Amino acid sequence: MGNILYLVIPCYNEEEALPVTSARLQEKMYKLINENKIHAKSRIIFVNDGSGDKTWDLIQELHQKDKLFGGINLSRNRGHQNALLAGLLTVREYADMVISMDADLQDDIDAIDEMIEKYKNGIDIVYGVRSSRGKDTLFKKATAEGFYKIINHLGGNTVFNHADYRLMSKRAIEGLAQYGEVNLFLRGIVPMIGYPTDVVYYERGERLAGKSKYPLGKMLSFAVEGITSLSIKPIRMITFLGFFIFLISIGMLIYSFVRHFMGATIVGWTTLMVSLWAIGGLILLSLGVVGEYIGKIYLETKARPRFIIERFLNDEN
Ligand code: UDP
Ligand code: MG
Repeated sequence: MGNILYLVIPCYNEEEALPVTSARLQEKMYKLINENKIHAKSRIIFVNDGSGDKTWDLIQELHQKDKLFGGINLSRNRGHQNALLAGLLTVREYADMVISMDADLQDDIDAIDEMIEKYKNGIDIVYGVRSSRGKDTLFKKATAEGFYKIINHLGGNTVFNHADYRLMSKRAIEGLAQYGEVNLFLRGIVPMIGYPTDVVYYERGERLAGKSKYPLGKMLSFAVEGITSLSIKPIRMITFLGFFIFLISIGMLIYSFVRHFMGATIVGWTTLMVSLWAIGGLILLSLGVVGEYIGKIYLETKARPRFIIERFLNDEN
């Protein structure tokens, strides 16, 4: 088993965080190399996800100064998950193991040692799991943890409180490469690959510099994406709901007849209005959920590329 480690770090407008991040990771990697934990051919690869600022210039500069650094430039912004996938699939032929993490180093880089340790003991996928969310706002904590609960309830199989900080062996990434879906939710797909897995716990810190690239709107659409790409239970729930409402309508029918023969039909106006709106709302909601899946089918049938690489900077020796 080889021990060439590649770090893959998606970056979107990270010019503020990159200088600190690269310095810290550089130190960490040389330490690991000197301790003989990883091979000297190990690399740090930043994936520039169509940033509008100086991110790519900084990456090129880093690569020129130290061949430990490499970079992948995507043709345009494709979002965190696609950038990550582009990185993983590109470096897999050079690496024995790959660790993915965010550019803001919210994830404790000292967990890397333990991840490598587990890899050497034959584990293919090591998930970094947040032991606490002390530094996150209450709102972020509640929404994020609620999200993991909902998704696992709906039959998705995600690791609780694990984001995209994880180690994957070469063969695990080869496995991932066979999942051709365009609607990408790595946290849900990686557990489907199989192979021996384990977790490493760490404390999640604050963003080093710059602002979060996941505002509320993006976070919500990420959650919907995650749920609908993993589970078809919401559609089944609509079916059950429809059946339930049908039962109620039979009850209503009987009730209306009884009221009619008692000669008190006018009184029902309020009930009528309320149920009209309630059912109208339910129908629209159900259509929306169905539409969400049809939209996904539409996108998958087109099989568009998930990313296009403009340039790959890497020094293999
Ligand atoms: N990111 C990306 N493309 C995007 C948005 C974000 O590559 O369109 C990267 C970003 O640079 C960072 C990671 O995804 O490395 C996670 O983003 P962020 O830290 O802002 O998310 P948060 O921790 O606030 O959820
Ligand atoms: Mg972050």
